[in-house]
Amino acid sequence: MAAVDSSVMRSVLEHLWEHSPSICRHWFRDIEAVDVDAGTIRFVVRESVQLRYLQRSCTEPFTEATQSATGRLLGVEFITQDDLAADPPQEIVSGSTSRAEIDLDGEMILSPDYTFESFVVGPDNRLAHAASMAVAQQPGRAYNPFFVHGGVGLGKTHLLQAICQLAMQHRPDTRIYYTSCNAFMNEFLESVQRGEMHQFRHRFRNYDLLVVDDIHDLSNRGPSQEEFFHTFNALYQAGRQVVLSSDAPPSEIPDLEERLTSRFGCGLVANIERPCYETRVAIVKSKAALRSLVIPEDVAGYIAARIDTNIREIEGALTKIQTLAMLDGSAIDLSLAKRSVGEQLKTSGSTQLTIQDILDTVSGYYGLKLTELLSKRRHKSVSLPRQIGMYLARKHTRFSLGEIGGYFGGRDHTTVMHAVKSIDGRRVGDNRLDQDIVQLESVLLED
Ligand code: ADP
Ligand code: MG
Repeated sequence: MAAVDSSVMRSVLEHLWEHSPSICRHWFRDIEAVDVDAGTIRFVVRESVQLRYLQRSCTEPFTEATQSATGRLLGVEFITQDDLAADPPQEIVSGSTSRAEIDLDGEMILSPDYTFESFVVGPDNRLAHAASMAVAQQPGRAYNPFFVHGGVGLGKTHLLQAICQLAMQHRPDTRIYYTSCNAFMNEFLESVQRGEMHQFRHRFRNYDLLVVDDIHDLSNRGPSQEEFFHTFNALYQAGRQVVLSSDAPPSEIPDLEERLTSRFGCGLVANIERPCYETRVAIVKSKAALRSLVIPEDVAGYIAARIDTNIREIEGALTKIQTLAMLDGSAIDLSLAKRSVGEQLKTSGSTQLTIQDILDTVSGYYGLKLTELLSKRRHKSVSLPRQIGMYLARKHTRFSLGEIGGYFGGRDHTTVMHAVKSIDGRRVGDNRLDQDIVQLESVLLED
């Protein structure tokens, strides 16, 4: 086993920054190259989330960078300080360890980017943020269950993962289960098939903190809602913390059993609103800092002004800007930002569709006046287009059911929910209707 000279790590990092900037994170500078054994160089990191990030997204670029820095055909391995301490392998301790037992399904791995440090607090998410901090510090005490809801890309997953990571830091022995609703349900169904339902239940009852992302997916899960209810109850009654996220508040999740709706709402329900301009500017800066990217004020302002609904697109914009700057060998400035963000908005089809666009297009398509579409008339010739409009608004905008109802002549959220369900169901058997919708979507989403 050979030790590695510190200059190697420097060259590896330089190579990475130059060739794969989008994967680089500020904590890369804490990574150490410790040794080379049997043709493999070992990199040590501090946190297990960092380890997972590296293993998942960085093996290839690190291999390339290492080979370029050393001129040798080396493989790479990422390990944590604990792995290093446990070396040689026969000393690995068995039984309970001091680390948090964090159970993650294969798909959903905690991202080191999703921490409280990198979460920007604004008027739009202040309550959700404060409650998340409280829950992470005192699971089962502060708000139980804690239910956070908001539109796509507004930071729900980020907050949920930050809770897990802070809870782990705070009390390393916290037993955490973090999953998506679908993964939870699939696991449940598999255990039913294997006849291991008992073990499944038993296992969940041992967690201190159960975090389930995208719980609105329960609405398609008819009978399995039952199991979630039991697991939820068992944990809740034992004083364990449950954290849930959803794209709608409990009462607006379609087809959710009444008793679940009321359980979900009995702790704290916090909403994340679309961030205002100032919050978005701060998010752009926070994302840039994660990548150690220096961006001028006007560029941050420009990105924040152009991307105003789904924050996820900010990351895409930064990657694009970073790549263009590298290709051109130029500094990041406003003209470069305009070029890349403009392109991104065009290609991602994320030009924001407004409800007004939908109202105009639907009424034009069916030869109706806008006032007719918004009226109380219930004749099929008007009510069907109206329902289609609501369906399209739900599918292609990030407005809540209640907001959509407001735009469609002041109807309430249950009317919208009913319309969405009804159109969704009828599309399958009604070819004509299906084609109408395809046609409308192609008009709405073109350009
Ligand atoms: P959701 O789960 O609500 O769809 P995510 O949590 O996946 O949204 O967030 C989408 C992206 O936006 C992520 O990269 C996340 O880090 C970022 N983001 C959203 N809100 C914030 C915020 N307040 N501060 C920092 N980043 C944010
Ligand atoms: Mg999410």
